[in-house]
Amino acid sequence: MNLPNYAYFRGEIVPYCEAKVGVLTHGLNYGTAVFAGVRAYWNEEHEQLYLFRVVDHFQRLLHAAKIMCMDFDHSPESLTELTLKLLRKEGYRCDIYIRPLAYKADEIVGVKLHDLVDEITITAMPFDIYVANDTNAHVTFSSWRRLDDNMIPARGKVSGAYANSALIKTDAVKAGFDEALVLTQDGHVSEGSAMNIFMVRDGVLVTPTITENILEGITRRTVIDLARQELGVAIIERPIDRTEIYMSEELFMTGTAAQIVAITQVDHRQIGTGKMGPIATHLKELYQQVVRGNLPKYSRWTTPVYTSEKISAAD
Ligand code: PMP
Repeated sequence: MNLPNYAYFRGEIVPYCEAKVGVLTHGLNYGTAVFAGVRAYWNEEHEQLYLFRVVDHFQRLLHAAKIMCMDFDHSPESLTELTLKLLRKEGYRCDIYIRPLAYKADEIVGVKLHDLVDEITITAMPFDIYVANDTNAHVTFSSWRRLDDNMIPARGKVSGAYANSALIKTDAVKAGFDEALVLTQDGHVSEGSAMNIFMVRDGVLVTPTITENILEGITRRTVIDLARQELGVAIIERPIDRTEIYMSEELFMTGTAAQIVAITQVDHRQIGTGKMGPIATHLKELYQQVVRGNLPKYSRWTTPVYTSEKISAAD
């Protein structure tokens, strides 16, 4: 992965190599941090870089920060402004991943959330695909269980909770799968290691409700809107049993990094025809048009980075 040139760090944009924290930093030791993952897409024809649903991502980050007793003066809009400044300074002309991170910055020993200093850092780097096999992924059900809202809230994108995602992902990959689906404590399908899950049953698109210990995905919301408005497909949000997944006609995962990943096998059982299905295919194409700013109907979701004619890395 290419490292960024700059970082927003301790209130200013600095060279990336200067954005360093001490090894005792609270967030590093105890996972007391929350993060976001935003994408920006380069549109060659428009000579423009478009941030996708950036305000929604920062809104979710600030909600998660609140759960973790963090106190910031920032709004989603002010964090978007900082991100635009950083991206203009980087001057990228390719697809980008932005990583905002809010963390407990004190270098102390002591597990708690209160009376600590909260910092925000933002970095942005070139990024392409996250799941290589995104048209015919083979997934398994993880032997790990999803964290419950009363353990570490999944809706919060809390750094410490990603040890759960990492266990899920690594065990699946080492067993030869592309990804894994994970069950809640009561045995319902929750999501993937860093993606939400959708299945098609009897022509209806079904996805777990937000109380199934999922991250309330922004790609999930986008896909729900697009499926309803552009494909005219009925959508139900409800608990899903494991065996419904094996019986589904189509299956796909969604996420900012993963985008839309079609699953064609689960635990060596073929899903549908064994090829990416029509709904996933349609949504995948549509999603690429929307995120690259090619569909004016959805321009409310895209924020152009370069506002002047000339793209300049100068601030
Ligand atoms: N679930 C988890 C656990 C994730 O980490 C992610 C990635 N942010 C998602 C789902 C997808 O969320 P989004 O579409 O907002 O990126």
